[in-house]
Amino acid sequence: MTTASGLTFDLKPSAHPTPAAEREAVLANPGFGRHFTDHMVTIRYSEGRGWYDAQLTPYAPLELDPATMVLHYGQEIFEGLKAYRQPDGSVATFRPETNAERFRRSARRLGMPELPVETFVEAIDVLVAQDGDWVPSGGEQSLYLRPFMIATEVGLGINRPAQEYLFMVIASPAGAYFPRGVNPVSVWLSKEYVRAAPGGTGEAKCGGNYAASFLAQAEAVRQGCDQVVWLDAVERRWVEEMGGMNLYFVRGTGDAATVVTPQLTGTLLPGVTRDSLLTIAADLGYGTAEERISTEDWRRGNEDGEFSEVFACGTAAVITPVGSVKSADASWSVGDGQPGEITMRLRQTLVGIQTGEIEDRHGWLHRVG
Ligand SMILES: *Cc1c(COP(=O)(O)O)cnc(C)c1O
Repeated sequence: MTTASGLTFDLKPSAHPTPAAEREAVLANPGFGRHFTDHMVTIRYSEGRGWYDAQLTPYAPLELDPATMVLHYGQEIFEGLKAYRQPDGSVATFRPETNAERFRRSARRLGMPELPVETFVEAIDVLVAQDGDWVPSGGEQSLYLRPFMIATEVGLGINRPAQEYLFMVIASPAGAYFPRGVNPVSVWLSKEYVRAAPGGTGEAKCGGNYAASFLAQAEAVRQGCDQVVWLDAVERRWVEEMGGMNLYFVRGTGDAATVVTPQLTGTLLPGVTRDSLLTIAADLGYGTAEERISTEDWRRGNEDGEFSEVFACGTAAVITPVGSVKSADASWSVGDGQPGEITMRLRQTLVGIQTGEIEDRHGWLHRVG
């Protein structure tokens, strides 16, 4: 199968795909990231040859030499996006080109080759077309897609970016993030550990950022909170993100409200959900702003009512309200601790567009097949 990017995908579908009854049992309660579809896509890269050997094959373990560079030096980047069942039974991915562009930027920062946007989108199309039966149709369910790339050159003494890579896409059915209703989270402001420093890899979506975050997340849990909130590395004062999600603050109430998100300084991950919500909020008539927000602003704003709601956003959970905040020297609650009206309206609108229930005015849905 030769595609628009000129790369030929060799289709080698499984002779033993999961039986329908077994698949339906998984789709009845998929959870998140626990079950994977029958196939995967792989594309290889080597210096000089470029991208080659694009394949769709049965989902299977990788075989790697123990001295493969990614295992030692962590050259790895990834993406996360979803495919949704549409009311007419077709399947659409949400803004895959935007993820493809971000993947290119992440690759550049990690010294990795930049996969063309069309190839990224085609690789996903090929997998979703093959495993379309794995796209759930209930409520907020979706097929989560995980494109990623690793350095596959072998050797320990290499003091430069690898010259060989493997790009892959795998897929995992995802249930509604809040099957029993949207539940606000409690957050811990991390002043001891930072996620990203100026000049570092904070705006790249790379595994290394996550490796460095788990200890702080564990500390948040030890403090009795659900999630860690990252502050800037220099002053430990400016609010950046919540775990693997971006943050939003609702200033004011009702139709006069403005939704405010921390501005992209180079140390924040530029979320596709964050970007989509800036547009959706404006469509709904709210003001929008990208600003620096300090922990003092946050605390005072919740106390004097400037900020009526706070929420986090990302592909996996879409929107998660923040109900309470704790740090080494203070704790406070956000509003009455319940999901806010504007938070829920934005959530409903975004999910509505993704699932085809609300008109897609911005051409965000990409039909597959
Ligand atoms: C992926 C990610 C996000 C959210 O990005 P989306 O494109 O909206 O899913 C936010 N922060 C971090 C650190 C991330 O890795």
